[in-house]
Amino acid sequence: MTNHLKLFKKIYIQKEALEDEVSQRAIHIFQKEKIEIVSDIFFNKAPLKGEEIKESKKILYLKRFQGSFFKRCPGAKPKLMCCNYYVLNLGQNCEMDCSYCYLQSFINFPAVVIYTNLEKAFEELKELKKTHFNQYIRIGTGEQTDSLSLDDISLYSTRLIKFFNQCPHWILEFKTKSNNIKNFKNISHKGNTVISWSINPEFIVQKEEHKTASLKQRLSAALEVKEKGFKVSFHIDPLIYHEDWKKNYGELVDQITDLFQIQDIKHISLGALRFQVQQKEIMRKRFGMKSLVCQGEMFQSLDGKLRYDQALRQEMFQFIIQRFQKHSKNWPCFLCMETPENWLHAIKAYPKNQTLIQKDFDLKFLPKQTQAYKA
Ligand code: SF4
Repeated sequence: MTNHLKLFKKIYIQKEALEDEVSQRAIHIFQKEKIEIVSDIFFNKAPLKGEEIKESKKILYLKRFQGSFFKRCPGAKPKLMCCNYYVLNLGQNCEMDCSYCYLQSFINFPAVVIYTNLEKAFEELKELKKTHFNQYIRIGTGEQTDSLSLDDISLYSTRLIKFFNQCPHWILEFKTKSNNIKNFKNISHKGNTVISWSINPEFIVQKEEHKTASLKQRLSAALEVKEKGFKVSFHIDPLIYHEDWKKNYGELVDQITDLFQIQDIKHISLGALRFQVQQKEIMRKRFGMKSLVCQGEMFQSLDGKLRYDQALRQEMFQFIIQRFQKHSKNWPCFLCMETPENWLHAIKAYPKNQTLIQKDFDLKFLPKQTQAYKA
C-alpha cells in the first residue's frame, strides 16, 4: 500500500457502487475494519470549515457520479487568455493539503471522492469521438483532484490511455504532485499522453505543499516517464512571492533545463498565486500567518479573484521567462489564467502568434461544438 493510501482512516463505499471495479479493488487493498458500505454519506450544503477540511482528507468515498464528467476548464473566463483546455472530473478533493488549494473554497463533501463509474465518462468521450475524432483537443483529469496519487485504486491512467490510443489527435493530460508513476512503466501508448507536474522550489514545497512528493521526487518521476516516451509538462503554479523568490525560481528553471531537452516537454505553464476572496479567511485559520500565501498583499482582479498586483506578477513572469530564454528561446512557456497585458509584458507576443503554443490558444483550432461545453 502506498503512503497516500495509508492516509485514509475510513473508506465508505456507496451501496450502488459496490460491484464496480474500483470498489472491489479497495476491498482488497484496505483492512476490513476501515470499510463501511453506505447508502450515501452526509452531504454538507455549505463549504467545509477548517477542521472539516482536514478531516475530509482522511476519508475516502467511492461513489457513482450522475453529472457530466467532461467539461470546459473553469479557467475559460472573459478577459483572460485561455488555452482551450477540457477537463474530465474523475473525483473530487485530495488527500494532500496545499495551503493555497482552491478546492478549500468550495468543497462541500466531507471526503476524498473517487467516481467509480468510469464507463459513463467513456460514454461521453465516445459521443465526442463521433464528431471530433480528427480534431486536436486537450483533456486533463487533474482539475478537482490529483490525477495520479490514488491511481493504485482507480487504475484510471491505464484505462484512459487505452481509450486515447484510439484517438491519436487528442491529448490526454495527467496532472500530479505525487510521484506515483508505476502504472506508466509497462503500458503502450501512442505518444499523445502527457504527464504533468505542478512544481515549485523545494522551499515552497516544504512550507506550503503538505503531504506532496518532494521536488526531487517529482523531477525524477518525470525523468522516468520521459524515458518511456511520454511527453512531460511542468506547471510552475502558483508562483509564490517570498524573500528569495528570484534565487529559488531561477534555480528551479535551471534544474528543468539541465534535466530535460525542449523536445521532451509539451508545455511549461506559469501562474501566479490567486484565490477566491472567501478563501483568505479559510487559509488563515488553517495555516496561520506563517504561511507565505497568507502574508501576500493581494488585490481583487477583474475575475473577482485575489492576486498579487499586476506589476509584481509581471516582474515574476518576466524573470522566469527570461531565465528559460537564457537557455533557449524555444521553451514552450505560457501563462495560465492571465491577462493579455501580462502576456505582452512577459512573453512579448500573444499566444496565437507563437508557433509552439498557437494550436492551444487560437479558437480556430477549437472544435466549434465543444465551445458550448460549460465549465
Ligand atoms: S495536490 Fe492539488 S488538489 Fe491536492 S491539495 Fe494540493 S492543490 Fe489541492
